[in-house]
Amino acid sequence: MSNRPDLPAEIARRRTFAIISHPDAGKTTLTEKFLLYGGAIQMAGQVRAKGEARRTRSDFMQMEKDRGISVSASAMSFDFEKFRFNLVDTPGHSDFSEDTYRTLTAVDAAVMVIDGAKGVESQTQKLFEVCRLRDLPILTFCNKMDRESRDTFEIIDEIQENLAIDVTPASWPIGVGREFMGCYDILRDKLEIMDRADRNKVAASISINSLDDPKWSEHVPAHLLEKFREDIEMAMELLPKLDPASVLNGSMTPIWFGSAMNSFGVKELMDGIGTYGPEPQIQTAQPRNIAPEEDKVAGFVFKVQANMDPKHRDRVAFVRMASGHFTRGMKLTHVRSKKQMAVTNPVMFLAADRELAEEAWAGDIIGIPNHGQLRIGDTLTEGEAIRVSGIPSFAPELLQNCRAGDPMKAKHLEKALMQFAEEGAAKVFKPTFGSGFIVGVVGALQFEVLASRIELEYGLPVRFEGSQFTSARWVHGTKDAIDKFAAANKQHIALDNDGDTVFLTRLQWDIDRVQRDYPDVTLSATKEMM
Ligand code: GDP
Repeated sequence: MSNRPDLPAEIARRRTFAIISHPDAGKTTLTEKFLLYGGAIQMAGQVRAKGEARRTRSDFMQMEKDRGISVSASAMSFDFEKFRFNLVDTPGHSDFSEDTYRTLTAVDAAVMVIDGAKGVESQTQKLFEVCRLRDLPILTFCNKMDRESRDTFEIIDEIQENLAIDVTPASWPIGVGREFMGCYDILRDKLEIMDRADRNKVAASISINSLDDPKWSEHVPAHLLEKFREDIEMAMELLPKLDPASVLNGSMTPIWFGSAMNSFGVKELMDGIGTYGPEPQIQTAQPRNIAPEEDKVAGFVFKVQANMDPKHRDRVAFVRMASGHFTRGMKLTHVRSKKQMAVTNPVMFLAADRELAEEAWAGDIIGIPNHGQLRIGDTLTEGEAIRVSGIPSFAPELLQNCRAGDPMKAKHLEKALMQFAEEGAAKVFKPTFGSGFIVGVVGALQFEVLASRIELEYGLPVRFEGSQFTSARWVHGTKDAIDKFAAANKQHIALDNDGDTVFLTRLQWDIDRVQRDYPDVTLSATKEMM
């Protein structure tokens, strides 16, 4: 099925998505099974090592140290049936960050994983809201059905109510907890039976002709069958039928029930992503949008990862291809600087391995090693001055002063901080009064991660201390208006790493005052990265 029959086949078969979930719901386990069915890993357990590594803060640091691991998992490509899946990893830690938001600007759909016993949890809800801002199609996987879980109707109701989205069952569980034995695959009229003995396979897949088929009673014990029949009748009557167009516009989510650990329901979900998930979508850009089927290559940077190898200070910019067919060695124009760059060693992340990307199509994610030219929000094209829009930078919610442990090393500190600012790991403000830097983040954990990375990657012990400011706002207006405003408010003015003017304060009252007293400047909590 394709809603864009005009797309070149290579583009039409691509599905680029992220998994959103609350920690512990089973994202890592599901990813591992995706890769297993995608033929990308031979053994279950390779992704697990990573999943468990981020449980504690110190382990998270260890993982940050071992950049190789977290990087190889940033975007993974694998084939399933006739589809090419690009799975983009959302950062694992629970601090909501811009990183997460930007990751979601690089995908066309999201798979929402919920724990059958817990339903919609806080982090899932937050991530869902971000997807909603972009009307991303969402496919839902209700995991851990092998354990005591909630009633199926209750789970569906909760999603409908908390997330205000229509839910249509793609499968229906039979039995709960210890008695859970499998699912009825509503979309394909099949009875799928879970194998509790072998976690890497499904016991049986039985074609069914109707709900009255005698095969039911051959496979399902009478007491489970009775309850299942009652449920499914009610479900068919009360719940909406799957409507592909509503899935694509984000107003309906199909839900599959399963157990990632037992590899159960995973293939049906993958098939669903292929069949009902969107192909690469049109990218909003200025002065015109970019369509995936355009011949010319365009792509944008949504993530930068620095210092993967501390000895080389290299960086990898993750680029989502928005259009065309890229081949290795192509010369692309870096629209911001108008300079050409030959992309000779792009990498693609095939599960655990980093490989040279010989080619890439719209929808794919490639990594481009560089020395800092490529920043988040940058667009690469074959010459046309188009810039992808909609990749925001948020005002940080926490501000602290940052000082080098050794005052002689202030220059080094500046370099390190600028690098992290460009990577998007923090906001760095240089006050126009006094010395030092003010660093802003969205989640408190980020200060600790930064301190540890600066020490590790630059050999520079640093201290973060409370700042007299609590809010930062970008100042917009004509250059004259901004200069006049800055001159009159010197004690509150700083420049960000792009040299843009920022107003720092601790009082909402101050922000209101500025808006009243300086009608020709506006203060905003976001800035577009372009
Ligand atoms: P993540 O934090 O979302 O990446 O979750 P993980 O994939 O690491 O899973 C969290 C825990 O739930 C781990 O101990 C998994 O073994 C367990 N788990 C994952 N899937 C299932 C499942 O289908 N059934 C059961 N019983 N446990 C599961």
